[in-house]
Amino acid sequence: MYGQQKYISEFEARKLICQIGKRMYDRNYVAANDGNISIKVGKNTVICTPTGVSKGFMTPDMLVKINMKGEKISGKLNPSSEVKMHLRVYEENEEVMAVTHAHPVVATSYAIAGIKLDMAILPEAVVLLGNVPIAAYATPGTQEVPDSIAPYCKDHNAVLLANHGALTWGKDVIEAFHRLESLEHYATMMMYTTRVLGTYNQLTCDQVGTLVELRTKMGINAGGQPVCAPEPVAGEAPKTRVTEARDYKEEMIQNIVEKVTEKILSQMNKG
Ligand SMILES: [Zn+2]
Repeated sequence: MYGQQKYISEFEARKLICQIGKRMYDRNYVAANDGNISIKVGKNTVICTPTGVSKGFMTPDMLVKINMKGEKISGKLNPSSEVKMHLRVYEENEEVMAVTHAHPVVATSYAIAGIKLDMAILPEAVVLLGNVPIAAYATPGTQEVPDSIAPYCKDHNAVLLANHGALTWGKDVIEAFHRLESLEHYATMMMYTTRVLGTYNQLTCDQVGTLVELRTKMGINAGGQPVCAPEPVAGEAPKTRVTEARDYKEEMIQNIVEKVTEKILSQMNKG
């Protein structure tokens, strides 16, 4: 084996991208020609989905081969302009071998509302997905998009793109897509418990600690530390939290303040 990375064949990558594209479309994660998928098949080679095509009806010959600069190597169709953010994930995190991007309804609603998904409520989400931050809004297809996600590529497995959608990655395309599924599933549970039922039990910090240990044993080193609940006092039942609209307003304000501070700091660094 050469080096540490083991790439799958181009043939295999094309087949897998078509399969994942169909699953993405069938699960209603994309409308019309939205979404994109890519797999790294060599140090400087990526197979990605083309622009202007429904991801549910692709054949292997429609896919495009590009280099890490985004230049087309071969293919009748052109790569999506959104592939820039995929390339940035590969650049920032060498362990990543595949990236998926879609607009799943509930997760994207959180991205529109400006609410990050970082609360520990589901063991699977803590282990396989981890915290999902929100990258600042950027016009789709522009260079601002890869710049907005860059800070999250190493320590996270997924990111919400403000007012746009979701981006997930992994050691292979199945893992990247499973993270997209977990993200939408987790966002849906969050919506039902916090907004419809209005009450929820958060995992305690001890419970989260055990899950994070398990995650490390599984070889997953990214995902951050989800927000957990304090341990219940001996003899007392754990406190069920009741959603208050104020919680969200405060969180949104905090998010905006963080984003503005980031922007100011980056402007200062440039100047
Ligand atoms: Zn998009």
